Amino acid sequence: MRLLLAEDDSQLVEFLRPKLQRSGYIVEWSNNGIDAEFLALEENFDGIILDLGLPQKSGLEVLKSWREQNLTTPVLILTARDSWQERVDGLKAGADDYLGKPFHFEELSARLEAILRRHFGQLDNTLEFEGLTLDTDRQTVTLSTSETHQLTAIEFRLLRHFMLNPNKIISKTELSEHIYEEEQLKDSNVIEVYINRLRTLLGKSWIKTFRGQGYRLSAP
Ligand code: CA
Repeated sequence: MRLLLAEDDSQLVEFLRPKLQRSGYIVEWSNNGIDAEFLALEENFDGIILDLGLPQKSGLEVLKSWREQNLTTPVLILTARDSWQERVDGLKAGADDYLGKPFHFEELSARLEAILRRHFGQLDNTLEFEGLTLDTDRQTVTLSTSETHQLTAIEFRLLRHFMLNPNKIISKTELSEHIYEEEQLKDSNVIEVYINRLRTLLGKSWIKTFRGQGYRLSAP
C-alpha cells in the first residue's frame, strides 16, 4: 500500500517513516500543502496522513479541495492536542479519522489500518481470495491446503496489492509504485522476478501474464 505523508515536521517524519515502512507501506512525503494537494490528485495512493498545520496551504483547505474534486482516498488527520474545533472541522471536511499530537506510533498505526480496512471492505487483519488468506499483521499467506508461508517485505506488498485488486489486470508501473518508493531504482524487470517468487509460493497459475498489459491474480 502506498501512503502520502503530508507533514512539515521533519523530526516527526524521520520517526514515522521507517516505522510505516516496516509495517509494509510505501511512503511518499510532502512537507507543504500545495505539493500534498497536487501529489494526491496526480498519483495513486491508498491512504493519506495529513497534518492540518501545513505551510503554504493549510491541511483543512487541502482536504476540502480533495473532497471537492471527488478524491475518495481515506485520510487520517493529525491535529494539535486539545483542539476539538480542529477535529470537528477536519471530520466535517471529509477526514476519516483524526489523531491529536503527540501520539504513540501504535495508535497511529491502528487508526490508519482501521480506515484502510473500512475503505477496502475488509473486516479484520486478513485478506481472502479464492482460498488464499493473507495475514496483514504477520505478513504470511496461507493456501487452501493450510500451508503457510512467511513473505518477504516486497512479496508481501506485491501480494497485498494483487489481493486488494483481484481479477484485474495490473500494469507493471502500478505494481512497482506499490512496492518501491519514488527514489528507489525502478527496474520493471525486477517485478517479474518477484512475480515468479509468488508463483513458486502460491502455485504457478494464480498470476497470469498479459503481454504488454500487466498481470492478473485469479483462481487457477
Ligand atoms: Ca505542522
